[in-house]
Amino acid sequence: MEGLVRPHGGKDLKSLLLEGEAREDEIEKAKRLRKIPLTSRETGDLVMLGIGGFTPLDGFMGRDDWKGVCDYLQMPSSDGLFWPIPITLSAAKSLADSIGPGEEVALWDAETNTLMATMTVAEKFTIDKRHECNEVFRTTDLAHPGVKMVMEQAEVNLAGPVRVVSESYFPEQFKGLYQRPAEARAMFAERGWNTVAALQLRNPMHNSHAYLAWIAIEVCDGVYIHQLVGKLKPGDIPADVRARAIDALIAKYFRKERTAMAGYPLEMRYAGPREALLHAVFRQNYGCSHLIVGRDHAGVGDYYGPFDAQRIFQEIPRNALELRPLCMDWTFYCYECGSMASMKTCPHESKAIIDENGRYQSGARLLLSGTLLRKLMSEGKPVPPEFSKPEVIAVLKEYYDRLEHRVEVQLHGAATGAPTGK
Ligand SMILES: [Zn+2]
Repeated sequence: MEGLVRPHGGKDLKSLLLEGEAREDEIEKAKRLRKIPLTSRETGDLVMLGIGGFTPLDGFMGRDDWKGVCDYLQMPSSDGLFWPIPITLSAAKSLADSIGPGEEVALWDAETNTLMATMTVAEKFTIDKRHECNEVFRTTDLAHPGVKMVMEQAEVNLAGPVRVVSESYFPEQFKGLYQRPAEARAMFAERGWNTVAALQLRNPMHNSHAYLAWIAIEVCDGVYIHQLVGKLKPGDIPADVRARAIDALIAKYFRKERTAMAGYPLEMRYAGPREALLHAVFRQNYGCSHLIVGRDHAGVGDYYGPFDAQRIFQEIPRNALELRPLCMDWTFYCYECGSMASMKTCPHESKAIIDENGRYQSGARLLLSGTLLRKLMSEGKPVPPEFSKPEVIAVLKEYYDRLEHRVEVQLHGAATGAPTGK
């Protein structure tokens, strides 16, 4: 292949972000417009619309597209263009009722009180939320964080084209990490890459992820380690810590001319297979020809089979996307193989036993639980180097030490009635 893959839909990237004078004028105009509050998910979606990550969408979806995407993964308004998850905006009924047809409104991020965009309201409609959840998440269980998000949306959806004036806190808070699709494409082109595999990350990068990245480099010109900087579940490791750990890993164990790392602003929906397809759509917009799809991609709990996200790429039409999935099995270090391996390559079925001091005892496949990993780190005991490089562990350990120190300080403060410094 010569040159990078085309953006989704086959035309140019569609950036809806205003700049310079046009942006200033829009901000001025927005002062006179009715305010619509956005949830953090809607803000993340809006930033993606702004920077062209959701090319070729020009705003939040109307009812026909919402239904087409839920039922057939297609947008009737765009000649049946492939799209896997509804991108919608909701507002309280009383607020929606006060908006006239064709009225312009201002979209504000509720958490940070930031003006994000203006929108011409082309359509107001209500949806069957349970239908969306059944189609997109394959469940209506409120314990599923994505389902909860949809069920808690306000009553009325507002649709229409947007003009984006802010990328929220992402460019500043994630300076050097946050990247727009056009910037990624320019970087790939400058490096002479034609084929690029995206590695989706929302956790620290241990050896099993590194192994996927090395395999991707073998079959593509380079790997794009693309981590989520949008919101996660409580208890997950923050993006800046993950980035430092990945930097430490790349610096020592990867060829720099074959490796790039960046962050994207989207919030997790945990929609498993459907979300893997959304990850594919926006990675194609970022210029990636391949997406690594491992075990339980974008899943949560036991809602999806471990390889449902790989299977769904076989079920969509071949021409739905230019990007191709790089499907990989569950990877780990195997003491019998004496190397990194996967369920597809390694014939040794026993699980390696690690004692409470982090030392290898017996067995083959090293599958450390997050709980044991955290316990070893917090007690200052060695994490097997076969599981994670010492440079990565050092960064994570520093983070946990600080966190525990802070918890102790807060507990102490609460116990004595002194201010907690929060
Ligand atoms: Zn083995």
